[in-house]
Amino acid sequence: MKPKIAFFDFASCEGCQLAVLNCEDILLDILELVDLVEFREAISEKALRYDVAFVEGSIHRDEDIARLRDIRARSTYLVALGACACNGNVQARSNFVAPAVNYAEVYGEAARNRVQVDPEHWPLWAHTRVRPLDAVVKVDAQLRGCPMVPSEFLHLVKSLLKGTQPDFPAVAVCTECKKNENECVFDRGQTCMGQITWAGCNSVCVNNGYVCDGCRGILPDANLAAHLQLLREHKVAEADIRSRYRLFCGAEPIGRGV
Ligand code: SF4
Ligand code: SF4
Ligand code: SF4
Repeated sequence: MKPKIAFFDFASCEGCQLAVLNCEDILLDILELVDLVEFREAISEKALRYDVAFVEGSIHRDEDIARLRDIRARSTYLVALGACACNGNVQARSNFVAPAVNYAEVYGEAARNRVQVDPEHWPLWAHTRVRPLDAVVKVDAQLRGCPMVPSEFLHLVKSLLKGTQPDFPAVAVCTECKKNENECVFDRGQTCMGQITWAGCNSVCVNNGYVCDGCRGILPDANLAAHLQLLREHKVAEADIRSRYRLFCGAEPIGRGV
């Protein structure tokens, strides 16, 4: 019997699901080997159980928690799909801003006043804290990045079909950047998050003339003290350091002393 595969989304731009659909050259081959039983962007069918659930997006509200736990209970293997699901992503920056202030920024002062006087008519007032999936349920694998990397998605699917575990080495973006023979941006007076960030994207941003902003999350054994010292030596202000660490990773850097 073919394994049952399903896709779900929480707070996200759905770009990672789109990246899956964009794997056009191999997607039809994969679909011959699996049963796609739920995927809101592509089909309308539903199923009761899943061998592999791909879950995109971050968790904000109580109903998100209940829904994610239900998906987990019905899945044998659960994959966090993309930076929103793995790290909370940019929406987790709202954890550092009071909801009324957030609304005023987006909808103007009138919204701030309505939130303050009439919270029950603003369901989003119930928004509590943005979390990655693994803050709520057990996650079996993570497809990192904003968006996730199609070659990693294919590696994971092939591994599971072969009955092996996917291998995503815990090394820094710098390793790929060096292999690609890029000039290090620090040598040009710029700064970069590549030293502390999970590799797997083939250092795509540096290859194309940018710096790494750390969208794939912080490595578990990264030497943050050395990286912070380097940023300070390059005159990056403390507020900017915090902002760059929090850009994709929400509150995680705080737990690690940043
Ligand atoms: S990780 Fe990025 S591309 Fe993927 S859903 Fe989140 S915001 Fe969109
Ligand atoms: S440019 Fe960034 S990713 Fe590349 S070697 Fe330098 S610090 Fe590492
Ligand atoms: S180079 Fe950095 S910011 Fe760019 S995709 Fe890779 S991890 Fe993300």
